[in-house]
Amino acid sequence: MAYDVVVVGGGIGGLTVAALLSARGVSTCLLERNSQVGGCVARVEFAGHDFEPGMGLYTSFGPGEIYERVFSELPVEMPESSLLADSDDLYSIEGGPASVAERFAESIKKSGGTLRLNSPVLRLAYDQTGQNAVGVDLLSGETVIARRAVVSNLTVWDTYGKLIGLNRTPLETKKLLKTLQGQGAYLVYASLEESALARLPGERFTVAEFSVAIGPPGSAPPGKRAVTIKTRTDPTDWFAFQASEEEYEERDQAALEDVWTRLHASLPAFGPDIEIIETANPRTFYDLTRRKLGMVLGVESSSEPLGHHTSLPNVFMVGDTITAAPTMDAVVSSALALTNQLTK
Ligand SMILES: Cc1cc2nc3c(=O)[nH]c(=O)nc-3n(C[C@H](O)[C@H](O)[C@H](O)COP(=O)(O)OP(=O)(O)OC[C@H]3O[C@@H](n4cnc5c(N)ncnc54)[C@H](O)[C@@H]3O)c2cc1C
Repeated sequence: MAYDVVVVGGGIGGLTVAALLSARGVSTCLLERNSQVGGCVARVEFAGHDFEPGMGLYTSFGPGEIYERVFSELPVEMPESSLLADSDDLYSIEGGPASVAERFAESIKKSGGTLRLNSPVLRLAYDQTGQNAVGVDLLSGETVIARRAVVSNLTVWDTYGKLIGLNRTPLETKKLLKTLQGQGAYLVYASLEESALARLPGERFTVAEFSVAIGPPGSAPPGKRAVTIKTRTDPTDWFAFQASEEEYEERDQAALEDVWTRLHASLPAFGPDIEIIETANPRTFYDLTRRKLGMVLGVESSSEPLGHHTSLPNVFMVGDTITAAPTMDAVVSSALALTNQLTK
């Protein structure tokens, strides 16, 4: 199959570009390896609980801000959002951030674009000279042709390491990639007795090194609330020294015990009213998103954000490793800028 633009990855970045391009009449195909869209903000459901996948702090949902600007071009409604108590710029999104991803997916289809799930991309396809990218090769062996551009929603490390190929990556870029550091996240998904809420500082708060996001009523079985607790972790730690599954399980269990003890020490108000349901760590984030070392919190860098360009003139990047901040609104905003560049 041939399209003007092929987008690799259905995270917020890839979806925004594909939805906008399709709405502007550009023939576009988005390829996502998973069975659902969203990547880092894909739905997290366990034991009847619908968990907030991140910290639940979303900016730029106000009038005239980035989401309104993007959705005004699309044939779908923007998800409802409401300001968090005591805040004038932080919003919660009805249905969580996955609903933004799902609206973009719906928009692609409504505009006549192509969205293919369960379609992992292996690498770029090159012409006979081996110099120019002409599309992408899927893991299945199929080649999807991109007449004008390929947009990678993979991290900057994976765009070069997997799509472009390290043998085609300029030396300078390889050096730069080594200087860029990413962080890992460790999450606990838990079930809270609703009666305990009154003892807590709010529904979104930070205590010591933990960010806590409590889901709305209805996100859990009656009398309960779904809670996501996030802390940072060194991603390399999760990929080294684990020769077997048992060792990995032990590592995960030790991390959980440590986090749980520190959390209760920092916030005794949880008391016995909170129960662990699941955890996420750099290994599980790797399984979900295929991001290098499961690094899901952007790039820590003192330099300027990298921008959309790659070493190939018709291959571009979108996503949180090339934006100034690793947040959803920054990704959407940068995706709009790339779309404008591709359609000018
Ligand atoms: C724990 C946590 C808390 C957060 N909290 C907040 C918050 O409160 N507020 C906020 O604004 N932001 C928050 N963020 C940040 C926000 O979620 C991310 O910046 C954003 O979702 C990143 O989107 P992305 O498009 O860059 O990448 P991703 O979500 O990583 O999307 C990449 C997509 O590419 C797909 N893919 C990978 N390899 C292939 C392949 N070979 N072929 C096809 N598809 C492929 C993946 O499956 C994935 O769907 C949080 C992030 C995390 C991890």
